[in-house]
Amino acid sequence: MWLNNILETIGNTPLVKLNRVTADIEATVLAKIESFNPGNSIKDRMALKMVEAAEKSGALKPGGTIVEGTSGNTGMGLALAGIVKGYKCVFVTTDKQSKEKVDILKAVGAEVIVCPTNVEPEDPRSYYSVSRRLSTEIPGAVYMNQYDNLANREAHYESTGPELWAQTEGKITHLVVGTGTGGTLSGAGKYLKEQNPDIKLWAADTYGSALKKYHETGIFDKAEIYPYITEGIGEDILPANIDFKLIDHFEKVTDKDGLVLARKITKEEGILVGNSAGSALGVVLQLKHLLKPTDVVVIIFHDHASRYVAKMYNDDWMRERGFLDDSLSVGDLVRQKSSSKAPVELVTIQSTATIQEGIQLMKQRNISQIPVMNGQEIVGSVNENQVLSHLLDNPQSREEPIESIMGSAFPEVASTLDIKKLPAFLKEETSAVLTRDSLGQQHIITKFDLVQALS
Ligand code: PMP
Repeated sequence: MWLNNILETIGNTPLVKLNRVTADIEATVLAKIESFNPGNSIKDRMALKMVEAAEKSGALKPGGTIVEGTSGNTGMGLALAGIVKGYKCVFVTTDKQSKEKVDILKAVGAEVIVCPTNVEPEDPRSYYSVSRRLSTEIPGAVYMNQYDNLANREAHYESTGPELWAQTEGKITHLVVGTGTGGTLSGAGKYLKEQNPDIKLWAADTYGSALKKYHETGIFDKAEIYPYITEGIGEDILPANIDFKLIDHFEKVTDKDGLVLARKITKEEGILVGNSAGSALGVVLQLKHLLKPTDVVVIIFHDHASRYVAKMYNDDWMRERGFLDDSLSVGDLVRQKSSSKAPVELVTIQSTATIQEGIQLMKQRNISQIPVMNGQEIVGSVNENQVLSHLLDNPQSREEPIESIMGSAFPEVASTLDIKKLPAFLKEETSAVLTRDSLGQQHIITKFDLVQALS
């Protein structure tokens, strides 16, 4: 049995129980994994529905052009519909979106125009204004307008909502959804509340978005609006697709929590998710005190990790923004040192060697401190300061044994020790510590290594 084209694979995505990331929540928490759609996001559902609605109304004619302002996922859904149904696509996006999102839209044949993020929606350079203008300038073009086109939420009323009701056998008590246009939550939520009015709808919002305050006060407060990093959710406008009366609560989640939690879902559940999945999980964690053990919570995972590889799945990108609280262990530092050079073997000197031999060895190996051995046993250490001050006071002493000037042996620390704890060991006299790898081989970490790792 086969399907007639790729659009027929849209919907009927799996619902999967979360286990590790919700370990301290007694309720059952399930995730609707929308990356199983052909364009890897939930937006395939509403994109197809908007195209069908435009065809039905007669606005979109054979060979016509689909114009949309899209952060990427809607664009992908529209592009797939365009390919199968024979429409051109022109997408307008913002410079905040992942480069991968733009590249992949081009790969499916769309023309992509990138606009600045940090301008007012009414500004002629904003992506709302540019999309509107292009749809009037290009002959046969139709502006899809996912914000105000109610075909968006109808798609979720007709497919996402019924799927959730059937997949949970009517047991769903909470639906938690990252909210942008509001189509997903308002559409699926309306269907679910019609089946059971007690079902709670929780919307994930961002800091920098006007939605939560508007929901709670009826005031559209421009002071709430500022740039943020989270992609796909939060708004600086009020989309017609959001049915504010239907939604029980908007909860803001920080950029950092959304990103860190998305990475955690990917790592601990093996479900490769995008940014907004982390924000939606953040809502459940922030509101877990409201949940009972018998509750069945469904979180929508809107899209796939592959769209964020160069951003939140890149450790350097996360670190530069202060989102990664990772700390290096002494063992990590040893591995870093070994991979940047040839395998590092520990340079030592016997206690009977002369001070002159010690100086030679430091020069040859370009090092400033050496553990001193008695046979196989480490008995002390010398560093260039000790050698220098000794030679200045006793210029004739070069042939004396190194043990006559050595200091105490470098302390040995566990390879699992956090490098932030090393300064406690690296006091004035102690210029290095020693550690062992899993094979028992000894390595040295110097003050200089630590400075390099921390800078
Ligand atoms: N997450 C992602 C990744 C999205 O692309 C979108 C769509 N803007 C959303 C969440 C929010 O969905 P909706 O627009 O249906 O509220």
